[in-house]
Amino acid sequence: MCYVHLEEGAIALRGRELSAKEWIQLGEQAIEAGTLSLTITGGEPLVRPDFPEIYTALTDMGFWISLQTNLSLLDGKLLDLIASRPPTRIKATIYGATEETYEKVCGVKDGLRRVKRGIENVLAAQIPLVLVSTVIRENEAELDAIHRLAAEYGLPLQHTHNVMNSRRNDQSADILASRILYEDLSEEERCDLHIKPHQKVMSPLDICGNYQNGGYWVLWNGHLSLCSHMDMKYEPLKTSISQCFDEMLDDLDRQYPRGCCSGCEANTYCRTCPAVLYAEGSKLGEGKCKTAQRMKRDAEK
Ligand code: SF4
Ligand code: SF4
Repeated sequence: MCYVHLEEGAIALRGRELSAKEWIQLGEQAIEAGTLSLTITGGEPLVRPDFPEIYTALTDMGFWISLQTNLSLLDGKLLDLIASRPPTRIKATIYGATEETYEKVCGVKDGLRRVKRGIENVLAAQIPLVLVSTVIRENEAELDAIHRLAAEYGLPLQHTHNVMNSRRNDQSADILASRILYEDLSEEERCDLHIKPHQKVMSPLDICGNYQNGGYWVLWNGHLSLCSHMDMKYEPLKTSISQCFDEMLDDLDRQYPRGCCSGCEANTYCRTCPAVLYAEGSKLGEGKCKTAQRMKRDAEK
């Protein structure tokens, strides 16, 4: 939901959901452009009634597919389809370790039971599974229990605190109230993060694996972008993925020329990628860049 959540009335202002035919057309363009691996995510991709049509076409094209889902719908015919055309991996979100927290975070009853059923189905189908969890105020007290839940299934769990402002969301205030900022952590919790210096960053683009590895997103409304947290508005259905990708790289290189961060004293502690700057509406050296400076000061204490 972090990627695309929009209130009903706001959707039309920002485009429309693509049809199955359009997604399949984009898949063909992606193959043509040399794309090998694909992540299907959402929102929750399995809620689309035409998911089987899109998934079947994309697996027929030969992509290595990683599927991101909350697992709550992975049963019955959908499970049969996915087990018969297994993705290279499923990455599944875990929002809590109790039904109460699932209800608080996701607004549904019975969420945890359905997710556990999904985990067991994926394990039975022998598809590699990784669990991910975003730690927010509503579930932070259950972080240990979430880790135990993953351990009970023998599964790896990655967790992040990284919740960005959502520039396209009319509910930004709720999101901002849920997130836990580095600045809000106690000294002990900051120590737990084990922040260590890394290689010097010469531009925010150095932080981005997508930029480094030639990756890109096609968003729900068909816009090509560096990632889901930005809406860069290139329209491959009007031109092509190759053309939009080249234009995007030119624009990013112009916006963040190599060396633009060389004067930053915190550049070995930097976590400020282009999406952070975009989402938080800040310029280089401001906003989240100040957090990198705080991390440096804390680490050097
Ligand atoms: S811009 Fe940031 S959030 Fe987006 S893919 Fe790159 S590193 Fe990830
Ligand atoms: S903290 Fe900001 S200015 Fe410093 S290296 Fe990172 S992006 Fe550049």
